[in-house]
Amino acid sequence: MSSQFSSIPSVDKVLRHAIFNGISHKTLVKKAIRQVLDRIRQEILQLNTTNFSIDVIAQMSFELYCEQQKSSLIPLVNATGILVHTNLGRSPISSVLLQEIMPALSAYNNLEYNLHEGKRGERYCLIKKVMLDLFLAEDVLVVNNNAAALFLVLHTFAQGKEVIISRGELVEIGGSFRIPEIMKSSGAILKEVGTTNKTYYDDYVKAINAHTAILLKVHCSNYKIEGFTHNVAFKDIIKIAREHHLLDFYDIGSGLLNRCFVSNKKLYSELGHIFDEPVVKEVMELQPSLVCFSGDKLLGSVQAGIILGKKHFIDLLKKNHLLRMLRIDKITLAYLEATFRAYLNEQWDKIPLLSLLRKPLEILFQQAENMLKGLPHPFSGTITQSAAYVGGGALPHKVIPSFALKITHPKMSADDIKILLRERKIIARVAQESLLLDMRTLLQGDDVQILDVLREIA
Ligand SMILES: *Cc1c(COP(=O)(O)O)cnc(C)c1O
Repeated sequence: MSSQFSSIPSVDKVLRHAIFNGISHKTLVKKAIRQVLDRIRQEILQLNTTNFSIDVIAQMSFELYCEQQKSSLIPLVNATGILVHTNLGRSPISSVLLQEIMPALSAYNNLEYNLHEGKRGERYCLIKKVMLDLFLAEDVLVVNNNAAALFLVLHTFAQGKEVIISRGELVEIGGSFRIPEIMKSSGAILKEVGTTNKTYYDDYVKAINAHTAILLKVHCSNYKIEGFTHNVAFKDIIKIAREHHLLDFYDIGSGLLNRCFVSNKKLYSELGHIFDEPVVKEVMELQPSLVCFSGDKLLGSVQAGIILGKKHFIDLLKKNHLLRMLRIDKITLAYLEATFRAYLNEQWDKIPLLSLLRKPLEILFQQAENMLKGLPHPFSGTITQSAAYVGGGALPHKVIPSFALKITHPKMSADDIKILLRERKIIARVAQESLLLDMRTLLQGDDVQILDVLREIA
């Protein structure tokens, strides 16, 4: 065995192989070679034999090096029908909007510089103009995500004070976002009122005392209580808050900005369900103290927590030292501004999530039909009606109509096909032992890619 070990070439010897000639910086190449040589040593120990020539070792090291050079964040095809898929990066980003913001991002810029006055400026001002054109709000602040937005508001206004919330709204969203826990870590005291299914106007009024700071409403994004229920509209919560000089605050969740992106009546009736979500524009018409929502759910932009409301409250949020830890960077800020401008100009196609939502059923059917025609033998397929979902901790009980291509193979189970597709970067779903490719979440070119992959595994 020892002679086998001594036949292993040194790292430097492998490194001198011509295959590495084109690579100028060799540190990572050496690392790959070391890993390959380690593997060979393991093999000698286990099998007591090896017969790798230096050419083969160099080739293996080169391949490993190339593999390690690839970016770890890779594009996937989302054929699940879940639009805001938290595991798949939530809302997709538009390359058109990225192009628009590129010049400012790849240069020095005025992120915190007031060009008129020649002195320090404030980053949040950059987004203020476009936001105030969109909404009836006095001011805006943007932080890392919606969880951070909620935390910052509670931490600023309710440390050691009571926050009144309906028992039915103590939600957990996406496993780690739990209202009682965020409340606790912010230093606020949770004061739950009402019962799981019913909370009344008077429950809020009776719970108010000298320690009360905020009346909080949280949108139950991921569940719905049915049957005998009652809850208090935000408009009434605002009224109570005003009467008692308290702060009203609504965590809207998803950030559905307006209804205009579905002006077509037929489409509106197809998508009607999603407008059961609170619509930011309509909530802002009530002139609340503060509201917050996510940037990368139905809003269709990047990860962010957007806070809108009265100027003097936002000013106090800006004075909280924690904001320094929660603040967004220029890439987020620029992309958000570009998204909001697209909303203002009603350029829905610049927002990939809205484009997917807006696709008429006939188009989805046509796409499924085209894919069916191109399906390689021996796959066979049928087109079925399907239920797409918003996802991202939203509306599990509400579906968006869609079409899916259901495919079968004489020798493979649906799960087998699903795994083969996944290995080739296509994420599909299996329902009732059939493999479904949902048309609603396919981006441009995805259909061609799926057919190519199916041809490969056929
Ligand atoms: C999703 C959601 C959150 C969390 O938002 P992130 O942007 O993921 O931090 C908070 N509140 C509600 C109501 C939500 O739906």
